Parts: sequence; structure tokens; C-alpha cells
Amino acid sequence: MYESWEELKSECLACKKCQLCKERTNVVLGCGNINAEVMFIGEGPGANEDMLGMPFVGRSGKLLDEMLSKIDLDRNKNIYIANIVKCRPPQNRDPLPEEQEACIEWLRNQVAIIKPKIIVAVGRIAALKIIDPNIKITQDHGKFYKKKKIWFMPTIHPASLLRNPNQKKLVEEDLLTLKQKILEICNHTYSD
Ligand code: URA
Ligand code: SF4
Repeated sequence: MYESWEELKSECLACKKCQLCKERTNVVLGCGNINAEVMFIGEGPGANEDMLGMPFVGRSGKLLDEMLSKIDLDRNKNIYIANIVKCRPPQNRDPLPEEQEACIEWLRNQVAIIKPKIIVAVGRIAALKIIDPNIKITQDHGKFYKKKKIWFMPTIHPASLLRNPNQKKLVEEDLLTLKQKILEICNHTYSD
């Protein structure tokens, strides 16, 4: 574990702990405010993210930003966004269990430094890995789970909303639930 963010960042950007290092253009560490009380964790970089070295910058990222803005969350202000794996899986396949296991150490280190109060798992892969391997995303999205003093909430991935726009209202409800939780337990998310 690294104690300084700068050290974590420079080590992570050079990581070769799994085979995904071979085809990546950029390691996508994450972006946002490292003092945030709320983190969002996706699955892994796609083509745009790999090219730019930033999470959620393609079509699903735009949709995510748009939906988050409705509850006054903004990656340039009051949240931090990262992924389970930090290098793009070829052809956007699901990251393999061993790739997730290799990479999650970086995420744990990020969480140890940021110390969020709430972590939102964006999509099934993230929910299974960071909340509970038995989660059924269609059934359990929008529910809160408390582990080691952190509240976790799974939600549906924006890529799924692009294929299935009628799910959008489900995520809007999840986000309202999230806003309530933020108002209850966070100190500065809405006041900085
Ligand atoms: N999908 C993800 O899960 N993460 C990204 O960064 C982009 C798309
Ligand atoms: Fe390292 Fe994660 Fe990239 Fe694998 S995916 S090489 S563990 S940063």
C-alpha cells in the first residue's frame, strides 16, 4: 500500500501485473476529487478511455455525467470515478477473474487514501466484485450494503441504459436514493 497519492499514481501507471498491460494505450487510474466522500466504480476502460487515459469518456460516460448532474454530482467537483480494471480488455470483453484480482489492489489503495463514505458500483461486474458475488443487479440495484463502515450501492451500467432506455427511470430512482444517503451521512459533498 502506498500512502501518498502521487506514489500510487506513478506506480500504477507503470503496472504490468496482468496481461492487460500488453495491449493498453493508457492505464486509466481514475479521475475526480481525491477528497470526495462518494466514489463511482465501473468495470474497465473501453476504447475512448484507453485512448484518453480517462474513465467514462465515451457515450456511456456522457450519459453517466448527465444523470449525475441531476443530483449535483460532478467529477470535477465532488466525486471520484475509477474502474475495477485499469487497462482495457481486448474487444471490450469482460475482465477475467484473475485480471480483476490483480488490479483490485490498486482500487483498494485508492479507497484507503480517499476514504469515501459511499461507493457506487456501476454495473454488474463491479457490483459482483466489490459488493457481493451473489448480487442480482436487476433486483438489487438501488439497495445499500454496509461493509467496513462504507455504504455500497449497486446501480445499472449506463451502457445498458443506452441499449435499453426504459431502464433510465430505474437509475434515476437509484440516484435519488443515493442523494438521500449523501444528505444523511456526508459532510461536504453538497456544501463545498
Ligand atoms: N465503462 C466502464 O465500466 N468504465 C469506463 O471507464 C467506461 C465505460
Ligand atoms: Fe496492472 Fe490493472 Fe493494468 Fe493489469 S489491468 S496491468 S493489474 S493496472
